[in-house]
Amino acid sequence: MSSSFRNLPSVDLLLSQEPVLQLARTYSHEAVVRIVRQQLDECRRTIALGAAPPTLPELVNMISHRATQAWQSRPQSVINATGVILHTNLGRAPLSLQAVQAAMAAAKGYTDLEFELVKGERGSRQAHMRSLLCQVTGAEAALVVNNNASAVMLGLAAIAYGKEVIVSRGEAVEIGGGFRIPDVLAQSGARLVEVGTTNRTYVADYEAAITGNTAALLKVHSSNFRVMGFTHTPEIVELVEMGRRHNVPVLHDLGSGCLLETTQFGLAHEPTVQESIAAGCGLAFFSGDKLLGGPQAGIVVGQQELVARLERHPLARAVRIDKMSLAALGATLLHYLKGEAATAIPVWQMISAPPDAIRRRAARWRRALGPRASVVRGESTIGGGSLPGETLPTWLLALDPDASTGGAEGLAQRLRQATTPVVARIENDRVVLDPRTVLPDEEKTLVKAIRESLK
Ligand SMILES: *Cc1c(COP(=O)(O)O)cnc(C)c1O
Repeated sequence: MSSSFRNLPSVDLLLSQEPVLQLARTYSHEAVVRIVRQQLDECRRTIALGAAPPTLPELVNMISHRATQAWQSRPQSVINATGVILHTNLGRAPLSLQAVQAAMAAAKGYTDLEFELVKGERGSRQAHMRSLLCQVTGAEAALVVNNNASAVMLGLAAIAYGKEVIVSRGEAVEIGGGFRIPDVLAQSGARLVEVGTTNRTYVADYEAAITGNTAALLKVHSSNFRVMGFTHTPEIVELVEMGRRHNVPVLHDLGSGCLLETTQFGLAHEPTVQESIAAGCGLAFFSGDKLLGGPQAGIVVGQQELVARLERHPLARAVRIDKMSLAALGATLLHYLKGEAATAIPVWQMISAPPDAIRRRAARWRRALGPRASVVRGESTIGGGSLPGETLPTWLLALDPDASTGGAEGLAQRLRQATTPVVARIENDRVVLDPRTVLPDEEKTLVKAIRESLK
């Protein structure tokens, strides 16, 4: 055993090998030495467990591989062929070209982020965004923070700290990714008062729970699940009317923050921000990177007096939005103001893509790939906790895997490890790729990755 350890080459010998020398030309000496040592330590551990010591070329290869893994810029681009439009693990909404350019311009140089150019004095980070959001949603006031989870947390802390918030039992839920309504309420210092039952809650249930200490009625959009059958939840407008009689505002966590009518694309109706505002909600909360199709952001719109309380709260500074996201969000909202959201914003382009156009793309890929590929019917989903259970009819490129190279799992894994990784789905023991979520300029790279993975 100890002789196996002694057989491992020295750090100096490894540093003199050409591939390692090449690393040292790009990265600092210290960084390369650290990687070499880490690899040697790992080899000692595996040898202690009974593995044979690697040869010098093997060891050099391991070091190169380790360096590539450690120093590759991340997150790296991947091709989303899953057909899940808002794939949270793949970064949710891809941005429009204009939003990308706006973020890049904001990143590259100085901006008037918090500067009044006319007066030459300190300005507001929020003023321009507030104006855009009010125009798009019809709200009186607006505030943008870094994501919707923090928007809701800030809202509850500012409105309901030390007080009661009434929530339907069916909505005191986990949204996913560790966002649980009861925990968020507890963290914001509010006390959760649950009313109704999991499947049925009436306005009267909320009303009966109102006390002198009630700060708000909270409605939470059931983003990633659906309760079917014998169910009832009050309309927002009914809750608002009842709340008004008791001087208690309705806070609405919309999740996705849809601004377009989804039924025009053959989907179920997704509640819109404009509806919440028109119904008279005190505050509505939503994400920037779900159906809005913009960057990660948390958006609050609603009544001036309530939004002002959020702005003044110390947490507002802790969840401040950065300049790149702000710029991208502004550019995304402009698409809505120009009436071009469905054609200019990638998530809406994907949602509205006609099945025939998707079929033509899949057929084009198949022609480039040969007999192991075919085009079959399938379904795309929205994802990102929007429109649960809703699907869009699509056409898929199906790949027949080879049992000798690991079957469908093996093929899907080779696709994920391609130079530009491709994330696909497995259905009926075949790997399927949905053109709906593949951006047009990714097609060539995709076909190349498939060709190499089929080998
Ligand atoms: C997604 C979601 C959130 C969290 O939004 P993030 O922007 O991911 O922080 C909160 N509430 C609901 C209802 C959601 O769907």
